[in-house]
Amino acid sequence: MTVIWNPQLDEPATQWQALADRLGNERFGPLAPELDRDQRYPWESIEALVEHKFTGLFLPRQWGGEGANLVSTIAAVETLGKHCSSTAAIMCAYQLGAFPILLAGSNQQKDFYLREMAQGRATSFALSERIAGSDAAAIEASAVREGDNWRITGEKYWIGNGGASRYYVVFAKTDPEAGGRGVSAFMVDKEQAGVIIDDYSDKMGIRGTLTSNLKLDLLVPDSARVGEVNRALRLALQTLNVGRIMVAAQSMGLALAAFHEAAKRAVQRKTFGQPIGENQGIGFKLADMATEISAARMMLYQAAAAYDRGDDVSSLGAMTKLFTSEVAHRAANNAVQIWGGLGYCKPTVVERLYRDQRILEIYEGSSEIQRLVLARAIRKAAEESGS
Ligand SMILES: Cc1cc2nc3c(=O)[nH]c(=O)nc-3n(C[C@H](O)[C@H](O)[C@H](O)COP(=O)(O)OP(=O)(O)OC[C@H]3O[C@@H](n4cnc5c(N)ncnc54)[C@H](O)[C@@H]3O)c2cc1C
Repeated sequence: MTVIWNPQLDEPATQWQALADRLGNERFGPLAPELDRDQRYPWESIEALVEHKFTGLFLPRQWGGEGANLVSTIAAVETLGKHCSSTAAIMCAYQLGAFPILLAGSNQQKDFYLREMAQGRATSFALSERIAGSDAAAIEASAVREGDNWRITGEKYWIGNGGASRYYVVFAKTDPEAGGRGVSAFMVDKEQAGVIIDDYSDKMGIRGTLTSNLKLDLLVPDSARVGEVNRALRLALQTLNVGRIMVAAQSMGLALAAFHEAAKRAVQRKTFGQPIGENQGIGFKLADMATEISAARMMLYQAAAAYDRGDDVSSLGAMTKLFTSEVAHRAANNAVQIWGGLGYCKPTVVERLYRDQRILEIYEGSSEIQRLVLARAIRKAAEESGS
């Protein structure tokens, strides 16, 4: 029983949510402290995700997936995130890598890579570089024609699930003079000569994930190209429209976990002869947390339902990521405050959640970039309505 708003889910979404909750309770949650402490990738959790079909959850059935809609997918991600932020982030990395192929891949590419993914051989989304994160059009990795092939050279940074993935969708400049209109995407296999992966990245949070740097100098055939030449920045942005709703689901999972921990502590911890939750200062904090988590959760499920209806979610996805990640930030911060000194110390859950939360406001477009996207959309709409 919780006062937080719960979505009314259909039968498939309810089942995925229940399965994620069971696995979270039995396997992913108990592992979370160890993954965080040792910065260890949970290979055994991936096996469980594959066995229970989560890695192919969002993929169409014709390519080996489960054909779930986005509402079911975010219900699963959110629930995994309640138990283990790293496992939820890994699940999202799988979906992010699938999207460029789903949106622009040839039937042959879909048939091969999506089936591979459903079997647990993931594709990572490799856009960012040391010099280009928010400003994706500034990437410097290049792909140059050599007969029927392309020579890809360059470095990619902070690639989610990098060392654990088998494949990468690599974004590279094919027309360096054309900025964002000169980017193409290519499938790269980790096993090819000319791919070097550096997995070391000592992170603040989601320490069970692998965040990797790639060094590339290899030839790929033209059949490895995903979508049209010079049109892939648009493809990356379309992918991120959905990815942002997935990050919002991670945010909500974390916020729910933080709220649970805070509410529990508020009734257990006594000062001056009474539970700290009896004090209005703490009770009101919990009331505000419950209110904004409920509002953010409604937004998340509405955004996913809008996507499933075929609506354009470029603005709604940006708002949802922006709001939910900032709600998760405040929830983790308040949970630490309510836990007091213990909340500041390992190995309390809220200490880990506080660190895990921080990335949600940075990757797949920082909060500033979401505001930039929205400000641009607002300006465009105002100009159109004024003309
Ligand atoms: C754990 C982790 C996993 C990741 N996974 C992936 C992945 O799978 N694939 C991938 O391609 N990338 C990935 N990234 C990279 C991530 O997307 C970038 O770090 C992020 O987009 C921010 O880019 P940046 O770090 O270069 O920061 P910068 O772009 O240098 O920005 C620095 C700061 O300036 C702000 N800023 C920048 N421009 C503006 C502006 N115009 N107006 C106002 N403020 C601005 C930003 O919001 C930020 O606060 C990952 C990163 C991490 C840490």
